[in-house]
Amino acid sequence: MEVNALKARFTLESKMYIFVAAVVLFTAFGVALFSYIISSNQMESFDKRITQDSAKNYASLTDADYLKRLKEAVLSEEYQQLRAQAEENDDEAAVISYLKDKGLWEQYETERNKLRAYAENISDIKYLYIVVWGVDDSIYNMYLLDADDVPVYETGLYEEREQEFINVSAYDEVEPDISNGSWGWLCSAYSPVYDSEGQLICTVGCDLSMDDAMVNRRAYFLSLIITTVILTLIILAGAVKFVHKTVVSPLTKLTDGMKRFDPQDGQGYEEAGVIKVDVKSNDEIRDIYEETRSMQVRIIDHINSIIRITREKEMAEDVVRSKEQEIGAMSRKAYRDSLTGVGNKAGYTEKMAELNEAITRGDPEFAIVMMDINKLKTVNDTYGHAAGDMYIKGCCMVFCEVFKHSPVYRIGGDEFVAVLTGGDYKDRFEKLEEMESKFAKTENDTDLDHWLRFSASMGMAEYTAGDKTSEEIFRRADQLMYKHKQEYRNKAR
Ligand code: GH3
Ligand code: MG
Repeated sequence: MEVNALKARFTLESKMYIFVAAVVLFTAFGVALFSYIISSNQMESFDKRITQDSAKNYASLTDADYLKRLKEAVLSEEYQQLRAQAEENDDEAAVISYLKDKGLWEQYETERNKLRAYAENISDIKYLYIVVWGVDDSIYNMYLLDADDVPVYETGLYEEREQEFINVSAYDEVEPDISNGSWGWLCSAYSPVYDSEGQLICTVGCDLSMDDAMVNRRAYFLSLIITTVILTLIILAGAVKFVHKTVVSPLTKLTDGMKRFDPQDGQGYEEAGVIKVDVKSNDEIRDIYEETRSMQVRIIDHINSIIRITREKEMAEDVVRSKEQEIGAMSRKAYRDSLTGVGNKAGYTEKMAELNEAITRGDPEFAIVMMDINKLKTVNDTYGHAAGDMYIKGCCMVFCEVFKHSPVYRIGGDEFVAVLTGGDYKDRFEKLEEMESKFAKTENDTDLDHWLRFSASMGMAEYTAGDKTSEEIFRRADQLMYKHKQEYRNKAR
């Protein structure tokens, strides 16, 4: 089993969807976060500017000389004791009568009303107050006036300075700041108040409520997230539809088409299931389709051409085979004697050439037996040609029976040759004797018709070292045969 088959199948389609979803989510969240940061910064700087401007505006509206006098009065030991007492008894009247005595009360009310009116007119202002910062490293602030409805004995109250303002001088420029504390989300800014001689008297503090802004900001962030998710889902749905239509569905069709391809011998394109899909788009999918189709067509063409070539080859082989058989039959006929069925003169010539080659190659072992039928003419003349033919066939039969393992040739009207090799060669003398006795037996059988009383003269010679051609051996055999014929004639007289 392949390693890939072991892995879970993770389709191209799901990979594409994951990729699209990742890209869209990443982009949408990136844009949302970026826009959130930009808008938050803009909102913050806008709020800080309003707070800072309000503090500055109000600082310019105060009566600095009055505040200077009020500050000096409340700083006195006498007032501080009175104030502490009044706070303890929750007795505003004592403080008010003190201020009246000092001729400060009337303006106190005017200043306080101005402060309240200003804070009310600018709706986002939560706290507006006038404070005397301790110089340099002082850890206390002293309250002078507050827009809130606080008791008058709060004027002159020392309060611990907030952590971030410790070691900040009253002369320092303090940047507006947004913080979350026990009073909720506040944007705070400060502006110094100078008297006509340019002396620092006190500081106007302004706090803008940021609670609504923060709630809005959270709502804005939430809406961005929701929009992003919805947008992602919409784009993903579009991508799913698009990818399915343009990639997945055509690829599935192609795969199904490919599965149908099952070429068999000699089939046409349609029969073999060559892919046929309606690909509408002109893109890579179409390229795959066209390449697949042309590949399948080439395969079919190739298979069919192989089949055609094989058939043509088989037909050609059949023709060659039958021609060879014809030629074989013809050549067998050409080398065969029609009367006796043994080899003819042409066959004998071939055999002689073959023996010559054997002589040239080395040390062959063969003998040639020459036979001439006796008194054929007499049979012909006495009993007719047909009887002569039977006489020839009978003599040949005796010759073949004895030399049954050797090729026999009829080289003249009544002349035969046998080429002895192997066992016939080894037993050649016995065989010759056997034949002579067979001939003698039929010849002397007076019961037989004359044309069946076979008789022939023979001569045998074998290859001996020094023989250069088979003709030499043949000549020796012929001479011996002739000698024996002479002897036979002499005996017959
Ligand atoms: P010898 O005993 O000395 O061999 O004499 P012979 O009568 O056999 O005559 P010879 O061998 O000298 O000549 C062969 C004769 O065989 C000559 C021819 O008339 C005859 N002959 C040749 N071919 C055929 C044949 O196919 N059929 C027949 N019936 N006779 C043939
Ligand atoms: Mg003869």
